[in-house]
Amino acid sequence: MVDLKGQYSQIKDVVNPSIQEVIETTTFINGPKVHEFQRNLEHYLGVKHVIPCANGTDALQIAMMGLGLKPGDEVITVDFTFAATVEVIALLNLIPVLVDVNPDDFNINIEAVKKAITSKTKAIVPVHLFGQCANMEAIMEIAEEHDLFVIEDNAQAIGASYVYKDGSKAKAGTIGHVASTSFFPSKNLGCYGDGGAIFTNDDGLAHIIRGVVNHGMYERYHHDVVGVNSRLDSIQAAVLNAKLPYLDTYNQNRIEAANKYDASFKGVESVIIPKRNGEADSHVFHQYTLKIKGVNRDALVKYLNENDIPCGVYYPIPLHKQKAYVDDRYNEADFNVTNQLIQEVISLPMHTELDDEQIEYITSKVKTFING
Ligand SMILES: *Cc1c(COP(=O)(O)O)cnc(C)c1O
Repeated sequence: MVDLKGQYSQIKDVVNPSIQEVIETTTFINGPKVHEFQRNLEHYLGVKHVIPCANGTDALQIAMMGLGLKPGDEVITVDFTFAATVEVIALLNLIPVLVDVNPDDFNINIEAVKKAITSKTKAIVPVHLFGQCANMEAIMEIAEEHDLFVIEDNAQAIGASYVYKDGSKAKAGTIGHVASTSFFPSKNLGCYGDGGAIFTNDDGLAHIIRGVVNHGMYERYHHDVVGVNSRLDSIQAAVLNAKLPYLDTYNQNRIEAANKYDASFKGVESVIIPKRNGEADSHVFHQYTLKIKGVNRDALVKYLNENDIPCGVYYPIPLHKQKAYVDDRYNEADFNVTNQLIQEVISLPMHTELDDEQIEYITSKVKTFING
């Protein structure tokens, strides 16, 4: 699905000395590389504060802790996402309220959000699924009207642009009150281990979060709030610092690969290509995800695997049906889209090193299967 080796071989000469520097200076924790990366990412995103942390799941949790969400508060998020999003809500004894997504862009459905709001609702967590932003303008409007926080789960869309109705643009993760991201190796900006970060334009919130990630300390050995230990280590920061200048090129490579996939599926009725909501840079294709209609998706997965083509089903089970999150509050009829998507979606290999020959091989096999 990804080609981390191929990518590394291209940037070895930049990454190796960056890592070596950390080792030589033994500044493994909170070293200068971490601060350098933080500033570089702030500059790239056009956001006031980036607070690095240990992984994307922590980033979500810490964002919620920083906002002061309290047990019993309801947090609305999507049924169709990676479990991390709902997991941290449950861990903090907040009440997850899962809602359905759109059938075309797989992102949070605005009408479903409106319907789910109660007097206990405190936050909405849109997930920018597969590399494209949710409808942030509508979400921010609802949030303002009901006095809610918006936490963007931006683990999959770093570098994507969101286009407002008036044509202005902002980077994914800089629109809500706070955002989280992940630097897991296979993400669009991946390190060589675990890593994550929180973004915000709110000075007060940034200050609180800087304490939360560091045992609730604002002054050494003074623990003002209950915190966690969640750090991006300096070696990972060194990798990310070396890779950040390539992020736009990497995303561009993904977009071009997606366009080639699209072109190849033109006229194939059973294959629905991914929808783009805005301009070319609005979707950075963390995943290239098709919907398969009228053909058995699982049989297609099996066929591709037999032909040495890796592919994935993200996600095979809706969160409201996962044992850890089943709840009497949920109504099957409220999850019609997710229940259908789990049967239709298939993600094809997507990474920065895909070449024409690979795309040709992959798409020809998909078409061979579909045409019988
Ligand atoms: C990857 C991912 C996370 C979690 O990131 P980790 O760094 O693996 O903890 C959270 N949300 C979404 C949507 C993700 O894709």
